[in-house]
Amino acid sequence: MNRIDKNIGKQALEFILNAKNIIIIPHNNPDGDAVGSALALKLLFNMIGKNSEVIAPSDFPESLKWMPEANNVILYNRNKNKAVKAIKLADLIFYVDFNAINRIEKMAKEFTDIKANTILIDHHPDAKKFTDILISDTNSSSTSELIFEFIESIGKIDIIDKDIANCILTGIFTDTGILNYNSSNPQTFNIVSKLLDIGAEKNRIIDSVYNNFSSNRMKFMGYCLNNKMKVFPEFGAAYISITKEELTQFEYQPGDIEGFVNLPLSIKGIVFTGIFVEKSGFTKVSFRSEGNYPANSIAKRHYNGGGHLNAAGGKYFGTLDESIAKFEEIIAENKCLLKK
Ligand code: 5GP
Ligand code: MN
Repeated sequence: MNRIDKNIGKQALEFILNAKNIIIIPHNNPDGDAVGSALALKLLFNMIGKNSEVIAPSDFPESLKWMPEANNVILYNRNKNKAVKAIKLADLIFYVDFNAINRIEKMAKEFTDIKANTILIDHHPDAKKFTDILISDTNSSSTSELIFEFIESIGKIDIIDKDIANCILTGIFTDTGILNYNSSNPQTFNIVSKLLDIGAEKNRIIDSVYNNFSSNRMKFMGYCLNNKMKVFPEFGAAYISITKEELTQFEYQPGDIEGFVNLPLSIKGIVFTGIFVEKSGFTKVSFRSEGNYPANSIAKRHYNGGGHLNAAGGKYFGTLDESIAKFEEIIAENKCLLKK
């Protein structure tokens, strides 16, 4: 079963065959799904002899840099001239793993006057129609899972090799906590099975992404759990807050706090968690939830963000303390959402 309409696959293939220079754009602070999706496409285009570049708005964690082509990703925030040149040259643009152009932050301004054909592949709710082709499915665990179906829909499934399979499986694993959450659809397991058949290296992925942390990161996690986690059993909620000084104290590297927001969810009765990180001029927030507790509408309404029902994020334009005070207000108001 492939969820992508045959005609869409046909039209996308035409775009690809007619394109000379293809660029692939993941969201800001790209995660495993965004990077895995983008690199899988890049590897596919390498195999069929098309020029392509992945251009990311900002850097991504070291734990994802083992993937093929990861070191050739152009970073807009570090190498703007090279990025702009590649954008101008492109006649086909793929956007992956985001639902609105503002998710690429400052880089969005480079795309206001684009003549190239455009394709969006994404699994977030409310995908905006800002491209010629929109492939959006919120039932997909990850964009990477959709990339597998996309490759199938353009008739190139035989091209998927071990490297492409590794990128796709990395995206599926990182968006589902290694098939822990958001992965009850049998189709996800179907695709994982096909990827393993092709040669995807499950153990290598898990070792590279999950067993590759610095000791500072582990100490920081312990510190946060011991000193910075506040639990509200009566509201089924908990949060962790982190100041700029603490980031410096624990020699923070990108990706170091990845996953911290999930930790309080393993406490009995906790169904909504937040992490608040102090930045310059704003507070970066992430939320996770279980069941119907709407992390995304809270992020959208109060924190200038959005996301999935159970995983969302945004920014609060105020101090760390103000952003936390808001959270405490929200969880008290939402007490009615808890199951009796
Ligand atoms: P994370 O908490 O891992 O950074 O993000 C989880 C999900 O929340 C992402 O997949 C994305 O959908 C959403 N998200 C995170 N940050 C933002 C943001 O600043 N704006 C919007 N619209 N969504 C975000
Ligand atoms: Mn994703």
